Amino acid sequence: MSPEIRLIGDEPESARVCSCNETEAYVLFTTYISLESPLRCLACFGVIPLYRIPKTADGEYHDIVSWKSDYQSCDSLQMNCKVGERWATNQLSKVDSQLTVLGLSICRTIERISGKRVYYYLYKYNGKSRRSKSKENVRIVLVNGS
Ligand SMILES: [Zn+2]
Repeated sequence: MSPEIRLIGDEPESARVCSCNETEAYVLFTTYISLESPLRCLACFGVIPLYRIPKTADGEYHDIVSWKSDYQSCDSLQMNCKVGERWATNQLSKVDSQLTVLGLSICRTIERISGKRVYYYLYKYNGKSRRSKSKENVRIVLVNGS
């Protein structure tokens, strides 16, 4: 006997899923509180469920899931402002950090298997003091993965 499935509505805590007819390009993006896939549609910024792209590593998405976990760890340190904040902020914002290099390599993998452009969200932090560390200082910088 198979289970009965009924759709009762959207999950209120989740970001909207991309509903574009054809996604032209992706952005690798997540935050410390994000529960969704770290792949977004460049046009509408909706979430792209990973099953919409071919598997990226050993028949799974292990590389993407691991990068997301590492990114969220750094983002948590940065948000908590107590332990390793400077190190974590460098990981998030430097184009040659371990985290960014790994993310860019995942972008290239997704480009290769999907045939679509993949951009990387690089955290931009310009604040000189704690006071200036506000949302206004956070900008999206897109680094082409190729
Ligand atoms: Zn979209």
